[in-house]
Amino acid sequence: MALIVQKYGGTSVGSIERIKNVAARVADYHRRGHKLVVVVSAMSGVTDQLINMAKEITPLPSERELDLLLATGEQQAIALTAIALQAIGVPAIALTGAQAGIVTDGVHTKARIRNVTPKKVHELLNSGHVVIVAGFQGETPEGDVTTLGRGGSDLTAVALAAALKADLCQIYTDVDGVYTADPRIVPNAKKLDEISYDEMLELASLGAKVMQSRSVEFAKKFGVVFEVRSSFNDNPGTIVKEETKSMEAVVVRGVALDKKQAKVTIVGVPDKPGVAARIFKALADAAINVDMIVQNVSHGAPQPTTDISFTIEKADLPKAQKVITTLKQELGFAELIATENIGKLSIVGVGMKSHTGVAAKMFEALARIGVNIDMISTSEIKISVVIDAAKAEQAAREVHAAFIG
Ligand code: ASP
Ligand code: MG
Repeated sequence: MALIVQKYGGTSVGSIERIKNVAARVADYHRRGHKLVVVVSAMSGVTDQLINMAKEITPLPSERELDLLLATGEQQAIALTAIALQAIGVPAIALTGAQAGIVTDGVHTKARIRNVTPKKVHELLNSGHVVIVAGFQGETPEGDVTTLGRGGSDLTAVALAAALKADLCQIYTDVDGVYTADPRIVPNAKKLDEISYDEMLELASLGAKVMQSRSVEFAKKFGVVFEVRSSFNDNPGTIVKEETKSMEAVVVRGVALDKKQAKVTIVGVPDKPGVAARIFKALADAAINVDMIVQNVSHGAPQPTTDISFTIEKADLPKAQKVITTLKQELGFAELIATENIGKLSIVGVGMKSHTGVAAKMFEALARIGVNIDMISTSEIKISVVIDAAKAEQAAREVHAAFIG
């Protein structure tokens, strides 16, 4: 008999029919004698609908009230899930985040969990209940309702699994697990049996959005092993855990393509101390997240100039152009060039730490299909290149074939 935390995402509870399916799966585990805590997200689309309703009134609704509003989405879903379980004879009870003991700070719409005191959850489990918990929400010590950032039900599940010392944490979603690439782009992509926290985090930040990144960070910090699997079938999913020696045998775990980035080049920037600081401080002050940065060798004496390129989210491009243009007088650069036609292609794997020639192999694959590399960045477990958007999907397939198959 095990204590299992299961989390069902919005699509898994997207209709009454699907809620009944979830109830049937939960009932099955319950009848096999397991203790179950089931974290549920709002039915798919509901959170967006609620946000849109508030924004129809005013573009910047107060975040405290927004949290109160958004938390109702999960409350509908837990109540319906508990009712569905009761209807098939399973003793289920639904709890809000606060009732389940999720205490957060007061940063509305992206609160951080401070502590989890699941006393009530323990009591209900011990009296034979299946406990259904609202994901994505908590409460401040003062009793205000908070939410944990979009996709935050994953975090609720992982935090409860840690606090309850659960034997198993299962994240049910609409895909079979974590893949070596997006199967819509790379038909040869394979489902992974296991992946390390760090690889999962890199892939998530690169656009392979399977889980909320914060929840993976939390799982890593507290050593919560979890499985990502589908709620639409019984296939085993992908186990996410601390890296093991055997994981290093695989050089590249996954290939990710991010098409949401834009590239900005500032041409003819005076090459002197403080200039880069000025540019990136201005961007940071405008809350623009800069990803890759490349600076060319400088040329021209006695006052050398250089070119600086960087990538940002496409959505931030107009804001970035405005910020840089206001610096033109002060810095005296020649020109600002921006393009949205780029793709960021990355390979990720803990095996890169102990293998050589990985970058060369990636660049050879790109050369074979005539893809020019614009920018490169690397970390211990990742190599990313910026390339032309038009060839990015073909490049993803070629690089995947070179390393994975
Ligand atoms: N319902 C929330 C959202 O849409 C939380 C979640 O789905 O995990 O972001
Ligand atoms: Mg969701």
